[in-house]
Amino acid sequence: MTWHAIAPIVLSFVEVVRSAVYTLSMMQFNVAHLLKGTMGTSQLVTLDAAFAPLDETGTSQVHGQIQLMHVTGGIWVSGLLDSNAVCTCSRCLKGFSLTLQLQLDEIYLPAMDIITGATSPLPEDTDPSFIIDDHHTLDLTEAVRQSAIVALPMKPLCRPDCAGLCPECGSDRNQVRCTCQSSTRDPRWESITRLLS
Ligand SMILES: [Zn+2]
Ligand SMILES: [Zn+2]
Repeated sequence: MTWHAIAPIVLSFVEVVRSAVYTLSMMQFNVAHLLKGTMGTSQLVTLDAAFAPLDETGTSQVHGQIQLMHVTGGIWVSGLLDSNAVCTCSRCLKGFSLTLQLQLDEIYLPAMDIITGATSPLPEDTDPSFIIDDHHTLDLTEAVRQSAIVALPMKPLCRPDCAGLCPECGSDRNQVRCTCQSSTRDPRWESITRLLS
């Protein structure tokens, strides 16, 4: 077969890879077809996955679309995902669930050259979680966990108007109205109060 005969077939295959949208319920997937493709070959993947809660954030699901692209050195994963986390309210100290939007933007490096089968030289400081293994499998778990940590609010609130705990008796002001009189005063006013008295 001449190149002219093959070319349309090759081109249409690249197009299919580009336009196909796969729905995955797993966090690991095989990227051999992308690594074999020319630079710039990309694939849209719809993720709809649930998994055991991750360390630190308790994240247990992701939904949304990401793009995987063959770039110099590896596979670039990017996209926005709807996700969740479990955290502690900074006012009332109660655990609660919240929704998070995760921004993925990672480059995964292949452990093996897919064409030659040789081991690929990787930079010494490469995080093993972002290496595509010898079976050409890419695992999104750590990328999701790290972006969930970044997305968590600094002072999470179970609700915007959480009344918090009473500093005197420790009761939850969302549940009970205690009769304590808060004696906590801004220390910066102390010296002025003393001058005036
Ligand atoms: Zn609260
Ligand atoms: Zn109280």
